Amino acid sequence: MPLMSGNRTLLEFVSGKGEWDGEFLMAECRRALAPCTSIPSVQYALNPYGGCEHGCVCCCAPKATHADPLSWRVVRVRSGIAQRLSRELPAVAGSAIAVGTATDPYQYAERRFLLTRSCLEAIMPGRNRVVVLTKSDLVVRDIDLLLGLGAKVAMRVPVADERTSKVLEPGAPSPKARLDAASRLCSEGVETVVSVSPVASFTEGRESELAEAIAAAGVRTVLAEGLDMRHLDSVSMDRRGIAPSESAMGVLEKEFGRRGLELRRSFSV
Ligand code: SF4
Repeated sequence: MPLMSGNRTLLEFVSGKGEWDGEFLMAECRRALAPCTSIPSVQYALNPYGGCEHGCVCCCAPKATHADPLSWRVVRVRSGIAQRLSRELPAVAGSAIAVGTATDPYQYAERRFLLTRSCLEAIMPGRNRVVVLTKSDLVVRDIDLLLGLGAKVAMRVPVADERTSKVLEPGAPSPKARLDAASRLCSEGVETVVSVSPVASFTEGRESELAEAIAAAGVRTVLAEGLDMRHLDSVSMDRRGIAPSESAMGVLEKEFGRRGLELRRSFSV
């Protein structure tokens, strides 16, 4: 059963066609934009949801945001965020906004609550540079808005192998669904990179398969950053045998190069 607070507030979101019924809490949004500290060329971060259903093993966000890791997969629906954003946008005209720096803006809850779409609708074309980071194929639903805003998308696919993905990112859509979505975004004219970050020990032996899948999707640019242990629990990583891997990074570089893919080591907008 979903967790709820404020049933009255919830009613405004019920569209009648949302099939998602995961756990969530309503949380009134007091501030939509926050300073972005994770991407150097981006000034503001926008996270329509708190918490993330995808439950990735290497998620840095709970520690980085001082959130309770045990309740991270309970989604906090930031009601009123689009209205709040509309009021904040005039003061940040010309700046770059990254959508989904701490939680996935297209996690399953978005099918029901449409907060990400409402936020994109609130941004005026030409006023801000926008980049969307996600692990979900739901992003293709908003191609119209992404094109209108000239937004870029970073589709995150650390592994192509479905079984490994199920262990590393149990709640996320399959790598194939994400790569199909990246392919569609590219073909419709949305500037899209595939991020294989974090590159780590689980990448080892899977580099060729990953490069092949990305090339087959028709994506030409790949972002690869190493595993950053600063915001991860080292005991938990050790227990799972997950560690940074420079050797995997070296092999990826060769595999991407062989297929004519452009490799970037850091993200910029
Ligand atoms: S999709 Fe991103 S925010 Fe969500 S759990 Fe995975 S790494 Fe964390």
